Amino acid sequence: LISAPSSPGLYVVHIAAEMAPVAKVGGLGDVVTGLSKALQKRGHHVEIIVPKYDCMQYDRMLDLRALDAVVESYFDGRLYKNKVWVGTIDGLPVFFIEPLHPDKFFWRGQFYGEHDDFRRFSFFSRAALELLFQSGKRPDIIHCHDWQTAFVAPLYWDLYAPKGLDSARICFTCHNFEYQGTAPASELASCGLDVQELNRPDRMQDNSARDRVNPVKGAVVFSNIVTTVSPTYAQEVRTAEGGKGLHSTLNLHSKKFVGILNGVDTDEWNPATDAFLEVQYSFNDLQGKAENKRAIRRQLGLSSANASKPMVGCITRLVPQKGVHLIRHALYRTLELGGQFLLLGSSPVPHIQREFEGIAKQFQNHGDIRLILKYDESLSHRIFAASDMLIIPSIFEPCGLTQMIAMRYGSIPIARKTGGLNDSVFDVDDETIPFQFRNGYTFLNADEQGANGALERAFNHYNNDPQSWQQLVHKVMNIEFSWDPSASQYEELYLRSVARARAAR
Ligand code: ADP
Repeated sequence: LISAPSSPGLYVVHIAAEMAPVAKVGGLGDVVTGLSKALQKRGHHVEIIVPKYDCMQYDRMLDLRALDAVVESYFDGRLYKNKVWVGTIDGLPVFFIEPLHPDKFFWRGQFYGEHDDFRRFSFFSRAALELLFQSGKRPDIIHCHDWQTAFVAPLYWDLYAPKGLDSARICFTCHNFEYQGTAPASELASCGLDVQELNRPDRMQDNSARDRVNPVKGAVVFSNIVTTVSPTYAQEVRTAEGGKGLHSTLNLHSKKFVGILNGVDTDEWNPATDAFLEVQYSFNDLQGKAENKRAIRRQLGLSSANASKPMVGCITRLVPQKGVHLIRHALYRTLELGGQFLLLGSSPVPHIQREFEGIAKQFQNHGDIRLILKYDESLSHRIFAASDMLIIPSIFEPCGLTQMIAMRYGSIPIARKTGGLNDSVFDVDDETIPFQFRNGYTFLNADEQGANGALERAFNHYNNDPQSWQQLVHKVMNIEFSWDPSASQYEELYLRSVARARAAR
């Protein structure tokens, strides 16, 4: 196996279920890659361990090869072999674990949503630690993400630190507290964790069912550092309304819990170099943006009779969290206001997918609206570039990336004031906020009036004062949304935690 690094910075290993662009479902994938690249630039040695899914984008990897050594890991009372692959993604060294288990855990044609997700990811968490242990790696920080790799925290302290893999502090980032991965307590035994010891109210027992364990709660309890993806969301999840059952646990562990706003991968999301676009552009050449708007109208068969008609985009997973009823409302309201609407979204929820397919059909020949109900990376870039506004009416939003990406592409966000949206979108008309920070339109109430108010103010601005709108576009395209400020906050947390551990030794 590959030897340990000797760089002067920290040695950080991310263990995660997603990594952009090869295995991305949502923001988690973007964060793992964006944060890792920023940490690497700051002089740290970063490695990533992900499952080897069959449905990854293999064409985006460099030098993928299988290692000679096989890693054996425990599951269901016996040892299973894992083939380990190594490759480079965006300059980052990545290890892929392929379990040689008859259930073919990551050979399912999709990342999540399988009946045995708890088994698949608890297996992976253990195999990832086993890889570190068997290869003699001595990371300073093991950073796990979301419930799928939350098992790493109790596994590390209960099984691996006693065996000698004891160099690391554990950092856990929860990207969305809605997904906690709870399961019957007995299922924990498969990966070798002690059900008796862990199914206790102060450890992994779910706060609302005594016979169930909660991996996210386990990671909150067992990690040295716990983060989530924005300061406002960190506050929200500490309340009974926002915590999805974990607020008391988070309050108990509040000393190690912080919210750090995500950044954006500014190499991936840069209109000046974006190869997906018809024409690249920058803030001082907005002709290119207009060209992209023309191109998408042509490609999707939208009317170009009125070139300056405002175009509203929406790029999202269609799940209740994202305010699907408000998205639906915004689409009709945009038409009434004389705009064009482009929705790119797909839903894992069959009735929501069906409902939007119905709307798509209703408007299939309409000149001002198009619904594209699938995941499409290339089209997402082209919509960010073509749209004048992007609507994000989330009910809750841990961080949200699309508002920040939109701004980099000169599309003005219209967002509900919640979570990370509240930390990154500041209303143009809010005089309590210093002018230089105002960058979009926001609304508080998660209802049609709320959304209408913001949408109408944005349309008035766009239609009645084009010059000032242009200035706003300039301003938002110049806002710093890179990973660097966030990575420096993670770095500080890592360093403090490592220093505390060294002092204690
Ligand atoms: P979440 O992680 O809750 O899905 P975020 O706003 O944090 O939401 O991240 C969403 C990411 O996924 C963004 O990069 C966005 O562009 C992308 N995305 C969402 N839906 C689609 C889609 N249908 N096609 C392409 N990209 C999408």
